[in-house]
Amino acid sequence: MADAKPTAARKGTATAYRPADVSPQRRVQRRRSLRAWSVRHARGLEWLYGRFASVFLALHPLWKAVGYARAEKPVRVVERQVKGLLFDCRMCGQCILSSTGMSCPMNCPKQLRNGPCGGVRANGHCEVEPDMPCVWVKAWEGAQRMKGGEAILAVQKPVDQSLRETSAWLRVTAQAATEREKARAGEQAGEQA
Ligand code: SF4
Repeated sequence: MADAKPTAARKGTATAYRPADVSPQRRVQRRRSLRAWSVRHARGLEWLYGRFASVFLALHPLWKAVGYARAEKPVRVVERQVKGLLFDCRMCGQCILSSTGMSCPMNCPKQLRNGPCGGVRANGHCEVEPDMPCVWVKAWEGAQRMKGGEAILAVQKPVDQSLRETSAWLRVTAQAATEREKARAGEQAGEQA
């Protein structure tokens, strides 16, 4: 018969520390709460991202001097932390939060980039994870709060898996810098003509 007496090993060392909210379910709930917060504040986050993108673009000479490839790692670490906290970001590398009401579509169990699917429940929850609000229902709600909310109507391209785990911030910045340089070159050519 097994010894019913608690051993020191079983009891462990008694301390005043009591862990709180460490259950996986609790963590999931907390992540979903933060996602919901981001959708509720989609307008403010849209504004904030606009300012942030401008600063990142202004830093283009720095990224260029350092090398975009070399800047990738530290920027990616920060991006993962910030967007992971606010949006439960999965680092797809092709961020479309501005078009999805600040609700990340990669949290859809089907990872639909153009949603929702036909399985949304009557209460607006996901058919795969019944306790989770559909990310596309949330995307629509967030988009209604945003200035550029009509962007949700644009058809999104499929995810390019080769861009996973890369920084969307740097990619968008490099693209914007290229477009800006092209526009300037066009203006100069127009003036000379
Ligand atoms: S769309 Fe991609 S980059 Fe943007 S939050 Fe979702 S997983 Fe992250």
